[in-house]
Amino acid sequence: MTPLTSTDFPGCLAAVIFCQGCPWQCGYCHNPHLIAPRTEQAVAWRDVAAFLKRRQGLLDAVVFSGGEPTLQAALENAIREVRALGFRIGLHTASPYPERLQTLLPLLDWVGFDVKAPFDRYETTTGVPGSGEKARAGLSLLLESGVTCEVRTTIHPLLHNSEDLIRLADELLEMGVESYALQEFRAQGCADAQLCVPSPPLLNAGLSAEISSRFKYFTLRQA
Ligand code: SF4
Repeated sequence: MTPLTSTDFPGCLAAVIFCQGCPWQCGYCHNPHLIAPRTEQAVAWRDVAAFLKRRQGLLDAVVFSGGEPTLQAALENAIREVRALGFRIGLHTASPYPERLQTLLPLLDWVGFDVKAPFDRYETTTGVPGSGEKARAGLSLLLESGVTCEVRTTIHPLLHNSEDLIRLADELLEMGVESYALQEFRAQGCADAQLCVPSPPLLNAGLSAEISSRFKYFTLRQA
């Protein structure tokens, strides 16, 4: 749990709850210790709830992050409990479980949605066949719901090329994405030594401008 952040839910002071476990295995994951389903560093939910009660009136929002929070069977109840305390709810997800995301959408105020690659190239990043279709389904549901969101892609020269990025931007534009962010890979926390070898940047001013022109809001987060 991060008790206070101003960067994980736009415009809100928030606490972030990192949920253990993820069914995908992205090499660039900066929280690889959260991929396994269990950890010895778990914080009991009653302690999280007690902390949030002490922060009522001081924090605006609570963000459920991960790992992949929708892996957690108790997530919906946890969100309901936190909403009842008066907090706005944010979710960071890559949507490996689109049907669970659909159930949660009416309870959410903001979603940070990770898109890994063009949907037919997902397996290169996640290591899991069929992951692109899960992500596409979840993103469609999110966009249909009208919940405010930012779609973001972490890019790495060994996983993406400029054609991928343009093709992905076109796919997102066609789906109705308005707010998009590209995040350059940061080696901090990454457990894949091959990806951590410094490599020339993938983005240049021309490519960045070409991608940004497709979206109403565009953010570039440089390494
Ligand atoms: S989906 Fe997210 S949490 Fe899961 S392995 Fe990939 S980067 Fe890590």
